[in-house]
Amino acid sequence: MTDFNTANTPFDYARGFTIDFDLRTGASALRETSLRPLSAVKGIFADEAAADEILKKDDPLIYEFHELSVPEHPGDLAFGCSKVYPGKIGKEYYMTKGHFHTVLDTGEVYYCLAGHGYMMLENPEGDWSALELGPGKAVYVPRRYAHRSINVDPVEPLLTFFVFRADAGHDYGTIAANGYRKLLIEENGKPCIMDNPKWSRD
Ligand code: MN
Repeated sequence: MTDFNTANTPFDYARGFTIDFDLRTGASALRETSLRPLSAVKGIFADEAAADEILKKDDPLIYEFHELSVPEHPGDLAFGCSKVYPGKIGKEYYMTKGHFHTVLDTGEVYYCLAGHGYMMLENPEGDWSALELGPGKAVYVPRRYAHRSINVDPVEPLLTFFVFRADAGHDYGTIAANGYRKLLIEENGKPCIMDNPKWSRD
């Protein structure tokens, strides 16, 4: 494939660009990958004893993400891929930490490329939903909603492509302090919603 532009000058992010990424892994040779093994995120899971038991002999990769895009500038769009591996900690599926945006009034789109999972949404007023994701499905994360990807497939990774306003920032602290109100766990072989026993409001 060939790109054409003014006087054959090189593209930079301010002039538009294309980037190749792997549709199976979400990774690009041109950008960095961030890894989140269990040891880095164990506090997000309700069953701490199950997490500690696994960590005695192993430190499985829970998820990774690949920023494919641009500096944090108002009016630009950040995008990339998130890959959540299959597995459970106790009854709870592997999932991302989840976050609000620092600029709370910022939406986001996630497009599912592969796998089967849910996007858990929750706003500060307590409204929540868990929206099912599969290949070809896009989920709109509305302004003011925290969001977390959860992989419910026993074998396949959940791969999503995301786009949001580049200067929105990530607020992980609110979720880290209070958790989500609802957990998605496996019960009788099926995804099931339960109240988070650790949830609290400041
Ligand atoms: Mn986000």
